[in-house]
Amino acid sequence: DVVVVGSCMTDLVSQAPRLPKAGETIHGHKFFIGFGGKGANQCIQAARLGAKTAMVCKVGKDFFGDNYIQNFKDNGVYTDFVGQTSDSATGAASIIVNSAGENAIVIVAGANMLLGIEELHKALSAISHAKVLVCQLEISPQTSLDALRMARENKVKTVFNPAPAVPDLDPDFYRVSDVFCCNESEAELLTGFSVANVEEAHRAGQELLKRGCGSVIVTLGPQGCMVLKAQESTPKHVPATAVTAVDTTGAGDSFIGALAFYMAHYPTMPLEEMACRANQVAAVSVQAAGTQTSYPFKKDLPVKLF
Ligand code: ADP
Repeated sequence: DVVVVGSCMTDLVSQAPRLPKAGETIHGHKFFIGFGGKGANQCIQAARLGAKTAMVCKVGKDFFGDNYIQNFKDNGVYTDFVGQTSDSATGAASIIVNSAGENAIVIVAGANMLLGIEELHKALSAISHAKVLVCQLEISPQTSLDALRMARENKVKTVFNPAPAVPDLDPDFYRVSDVFCCNESEAELLTGFSVANVEEAHRAGQELLKRGCGSVIVTLGPQGCMVLKAQESTPKHVPATAVTAVDTTGAGDSFIGALAFYMAHYPTMPLEEMACRANQVAAVSVQAAGTQTSYPFKKDLPVKLF
């Protein structure tokens, strides 16, 4: 149902009283390894809701790569299009968190940048038979664009998440996006407008819509999201579920994974209804620590969401 062409990252997280200075070694009190990468996060959230999913990505021929493939399998994701290369290590994010919750992060995209047209061709039959294709920008932008075009040529619905955002996004990305889904800071960077509330998200969303996407969703954290459709003049604000947030890391990916699930399973459902349900899925994800560790399964959610 859902094919994600995107990134895999291993998060190496150390908690310490403070961030070390250059040349300094300090003692931390906790270390853990987490599964991340926007593409993989979105794929795993869609899979946990019950979508048949395939991931198209590249990892290293190393421990982290093997471990990630096992993580996909454990979540029921089809892994035949997960390539392993000896030319680069699995993407990794080294994260240090201090006692104030501030962090310093080094991301090495590694093998993610080696995903290219060759892997897309290998996955062509899966892509062309999918209901929804999802892409982001943590891999080579050309590969994302090629994947979106390939989906479009096969009448597969596309979801594009321009994250991490770049100021000079190739304008073709708008034209190949059925749903263009970004958060506040991405909307700001792409439009040059300030985006901090519903009105501003409306204005930025209209600007993005003008660039050629079918629909635009701007997510607004605890304010939910704004949904704009090319064929309708009235945009809709869809409020978030009121919850006490513990850790919002990966909330946007939970939202997009859920959206892809609804697009694949309920193709005639209005987009604002899908967004409303995706808000509810993402609201569950912010109530627990971690990224994928906080993503709900179908069994954890009310039946009215299905
Ligand atoms: P990102 O993780 O990309 O910064 P957002 O912060 O906009 O994205 O969050 C994505 C979605 O997650 C929101 O649209 C909303 O549905 C949900 N969400 C995020 N933060 C909260 C929160 N504090 N309370 C309830 N829902 C939230």
